[in-house]
Amino acid sequence: MLEVTNLSCGYGDIIVARELSFSVNEGEVLSVIGANGAGKSSTLNCLCGIVEKIHGSICINGFEIGELIPEQRIQHGIALVPEGRRVFPDLSVNENLTVGGHIVDRKLLETNREKVFSYFPRLGERPKQLAGSLSGGEQQMLAFGRALMSLPKLLLVDEMSLGLMPKVVDECYQVLQDLKDNGVAIILVEQNTERALAVADHVLVIEAGNLYWQGSSAELAQNPAAVEAMMGSSA
Ligand code: ATP
Repeated sequence: MLEVTNLSCGYGDIIVARELSFSVNEGEVLSVIGANGAGKSSTLNCLCGIVEKIHGSICINGFEIGELIPEQRIQHGIALVPEGRRVFPDLSVNENLTVGGHIVDRKLLETNREKVFSYFPRLGERPKQLAGSLSGGEQQMLAFGRALMSLPKLLLVDEMSLGLMPKVVDECYQVLQDLKDNGVAIILVEQNTERALAVADHVLVIEAGNLYWQGSSAELAQNPAAVEAMMGSSA
């Protein structure tokens, strides 16, 4: 469903990811692994249109979206759970979710909100609480829920488990598994390589903005050099 070809992205004249090609199908998880500064977040952000594409192609179901603005990409089924959560602190839980679902009609908005609350009951218990006063784990759930409000076909998840208690990480991974089982394509960037690999169908290892290795998670287990690079990334 997502086909990325020779994608380079960056900031002004600085290219931070070069000539990356990869694809993700419905119901698959691609885990992107690499050291700090390798270009993982920039690549995710380029897919959703908030970092500049310098070269290459990004197709969703055969349609080129690489020149579209972020809003249009959401309409093509992309949603991002950003690194650092980035909830709107002065808006309530409900209002944050409404922002995430602004492209869907009013009736679907409520259905989607109920779905998010069924995934994360703690959000459902505090719909009017300001997001800025939520705990770190609750803010992560809210960032996750906000992305789900547009019913994405491709979910981009950046450092979901960073700084969270294991129980909350488990909860988030259960939701990811449910989305995967329901055909959502997922790209995961994670410091927690063990968790990311456990759920991955395919793995992309990036080193200093270049493709270092890609293949199935089973193949990765057979490739000591890639494993070494990957472990360097999680140190
Ligand atoms: P981390 O695991 O530390 O988040 P990463 O693999 O996600 O790293 P990026 O955050 O994509 O890496 O950063 C890749 C490179 O792009 C780094 O050298 C970083 O300094 C640079 N970079 C990131 N954001 C910007 C920006 N807004 N302007 C200029 N350079 C940036």
